[in-house]
Amino acid sequence: MQTPNHRVESARLYSDPNTRELLRRMLTEDLPLEPTVGPDGKVHYSLAETVLGAEADVKGWIAEMVQQDVLKKRVAREFVMCPVHLRADPVIMVECLKCKSRLSVKRSLVEHTYCGYIGDDSRFDKGGSLQCPNCGRPIRAPNELRVSGVWYECQNCLSKTSSPRLVFVCKEGNHEFTVLDLALVNVDSYMVNERVLAELRNTLLLDPQLAKMMEELGYEVESPAQVQGQSGSKHSLDVYAKKDGLTIALQVAVDTKPVEPSAVISFFAKAFDIKPNKSVLVTIPAASEEAKRLEAGYGVAVVEDFDGSGVVRKVKDLLEGGGR
Ligand SMILES: [Zn+2]
Ligand SMILES: [Zn+2]
Ligand SMILES: [Zn+2]
Repeated sequence: MQTPNHRVESARLYSDPNTRELLRRMLTEDLPLEPTVGPDGKVHYSLAETVLGAEADVKGWIAEMVQQDVLKKRVAREFVMCPVHLRADPVIMVECLKCKSRLSVKRSLVEHTYCGYIGDDSRFDKGGSLQCPNCGRPIRAPNELRVSGVWYECQNCLSKTSSPRLVFVCKEGNHEFTVLDLALVNVDSYMVNERVLAELRNTLLLDPQLAKMMEELGYEVESPAQVQGQSGSKHSLDVYAKKDGLTIALQVAVDTKPVEPSAVISFFAKAFDIKPNKSVLVTIPAASEEAKRLEAGYGVAVVEDFDGSGVVRKVKDLLEGGGR
């Protein structure tokens, strides 16, 4: 839904450098957010945690991105989990149905399709090459053998079964659970919604290009940046650069229509606290008339670019044009 509210929301979402960095990596490295099991046995979206920070509310972030149609769900993956601790890394053991021993050997029952002989797969192994123990013919192709059964042989009581009891041992306190009481949890993975691809590519690829250009101009660049203001609170910026005591704060605002004054005001609030020598707000596709009117009053230089392709050159001209 492209309601006005949605546009304001998405502009706000993309203005967070961590969000932009994560989406940029998902786009440029073609990475979905896949759930994986971490060393703590829990399901993690490790890429999101790496970029957003270990303390970040990754689930909240994903929920917000899905709600704003930036991310969409892909096929779910299921995890077998301990029903108590929801750890997804149990150790699985095969237990003898009769004596409950946990020392079984797995064997396959193999049939030689030529002569009909059926036997334990180990009997076909003649010192590295396969040969039928009944008719003595060498086995040359996979279709000459047919696996007709698999069983588990208890090493304690020697009883055999094809469906032994599976016991799961949770790493949290080594307690056990079975197939009957395990938790089977579906966890979604996420990818960038095609609907926002063009808009995202513009903004997400821009930050690194701007940072590179400023480094080439001799600036010491942080991007994305966390900068402490005079109030003591930290502000996130797309680019923060320093050279010879001169500081520059830069933010990119992308929208589907001319960027609203709210973007200027929120950037100004950061700049007012950080007090850089120069504050640059890049607006794509343009700044609204009201936003431009605020430009002078707030001391924020607004750079407009219709599709993002001219931004690096325009900002470079602005920086080189002096105004120290
Ligand atoms: Zn457990
Ligand atoms: Zn044979
Ligand atoms: Zn047994």
